[in-house]
Amino acid sequence: MEVQRESMEVDVLVVGAGPAGLSAAIHLTNLIEAARERGELTGVAASEEFTLMVIEKSAEVGDHMLSGAVLDPVGLDELLPDWRDRDAPIAAPVVEEGIYYLTRTGRVRFPITPPGMGHHGCYVVSLNQLTRWLGSIVEEKGVELFTGMAGASPILEDGGFKGVVTDDKGIDKDGNPRSNFEPGIELRAKITILGEGPRGSLTGEVVPKLGLDEGRNPQNYLTGVKELWEVPAGRVKAGTVWHTIGFPLGLRHYGGSWIYAMSDELLSIGLSSALNYRDPRFDLHGVFQEFKTHPWISSLLKGGKMVRYGAKTIGEGGYFAVPRLYHDGLMLVGESAGLLNSKRLKGIHLAIKSGIMAAETAFEALTRENYSASVLSGYDERYRKSWVHQELWNVRNFHQGFEKGLFSGMINTAAQILTGGRGVKTRLDARPDHGFMCKLSEMPKARSPIERKFDGELTFDKLTDVYASGTKHEENQPPHMRLIDADICNDRCTEEYGNPCQHFCPALVYEMVEGDNGKLKLQISASNCLHCKTCDIVDPYDNITWVPPEGGGGPKYGGM
Ligand code: SF4
Repeated sequence: MEVQRESMEVDVLVVGAGPAGLSAAIHLTNLIEAARERGELTGVAASEEFTLMVIEKSAEVGDHMLSGAVLDPVGLDELLPDWRDRDAPIAAPVVEEGIYYLTRTGRVRFPITPPGMGHHGCYVVSLNQLTRWLGSIVEEKGVELFTGMAGASPILEDGGFKGVVTDDKGIDKDGNPRSNFEPGIELRAKITILGEGPRGSLTGEVVPKLGLDEGRNPQNYLTGVKELWEVPAGRVKAGTVWHTIGFPLGLRHYGGSWIYAMSDELLSIGLSSALNYRDPRFDLHGVFQEFKTHPWISSLLKGGKMVRYGAKTIGEGGYFAVPRLYHDGLMLVGESAGLLNSKRLKGIHLAIKSGIMAAETAFEALTRENYSASVLSGYDERYRKSWVHQELWNVRNFHQGFEKGLFSGMINTAAQILTGGRGVKTRLDARPDHGFMCKLSEMPKARSPIERKFDGELTFDKLTDVYASGTKHEENQPPHMRLIDADICNDRCTEEYGNPCQHFCPALVYEMVEGDNGKLKLQISASNCLHCKTCDIVDPYDNITWVPPEGGGGPKYGGM
């Protein structure tokens, strides 16, 4: 469809109002204000016309933000040194922590917390609330922040990154304009900061196109599913942080659970699993429900009420999977840059610091009126000199060490602790996650998918949980999960893998239903989508491309 688009000039464009993008906007504004007060502001930022814009695909800032979450305050201390005196939405300081190995009915506490995995001085937070709060600071500073607006495609010209085209609104499911059709806008920016979170669609397109991943490991992922539970007061002390491994994932499967007490009456509980698993019938949502039937876990939740559900992927590839962070007109921040400490399973503090470093580099580029890679490479220099680089370097082979299961992972981890993060090899290799899944015929016991029963009190089916996620989309729009070859799904995949999309999607988007000819065919319920991107990563034929739906659609992760 040929579309006439408006074009708008922006000086700095931030795509994604997560902790990284918002920190970049806050810090850049602070630098400009400070330089103005000193009478030293020169260059583009000194102009009355200077524009800093943030765009975000969710309807409100924070709606798509989900994490455990335990915040290491080191990033926030640098961004907003007085945050403790402000009304920052901190749920509770960490007061108790422990790691447990779970058997089917029992638990064994680790005698110590392994080095580098402790939470002393950290805080239990809701990432949704923290992000909303950062968003309110950005708005107070007069930054133009537009929600319900997704970056749909990059503008790449003359070898450089020149901005993004936002999503068209009002297209029907067949791709035709509806009566409310509004074409997306070309936002032409001198500098674009991409902070789309894990597996961002613009990032995923431009990183290989611009060769930013040359010589790097492919990114590897986990998916985490989470429920928020209101429980009777006093069951778990606010600020308690427990992690578990073992049941129900077992010893060959990399992943584990968390139980965080946000208050005496509110528990964040979730399970994460690496996406390099073998069994095509693996269903993380179902396994998480099973986890809650463990006697200890069910005793924590008994008499309580599940109030929210969500799912998200986490980029775990670590140091060697971090792409080149800059190009002409472009910087990558937060999880778009793969900045996550896989050993601590923490990225918020790294995201905030990356936003700070990108802002300092943008400020320098605006002052020098030069937005080329030669100036923006200053971001990479800042990264290499920062504690972010040191932190990632110290755990550089952590995730890859678990490729062969929990025991070999623990041996690798011990070797890494003794060798400052190196372990048995300078750089452990990595493969994309979608290459690990086995065909049904290769699985030791090929059988039908496990039929699970849910009681509606402790355990829930996917549809009930999807309802609790608050997700909503305009129904009359093209599906935002694009199949490269739809025939593979109804034929080859059914035969070879038993259509694993039915199991790996934590939101019942993909179902095999009986077609007119009595054969099974794929039905996609796109409006259930939680934007976790698991399907884009793990499909064994790499046959699914997830693109942002019409801006404003998606989950509503209040309090998550
Ligand atoms: Fe996640 Fe894909 Fe399912 Fe959406 S369709 S919830 S992105 S797996």
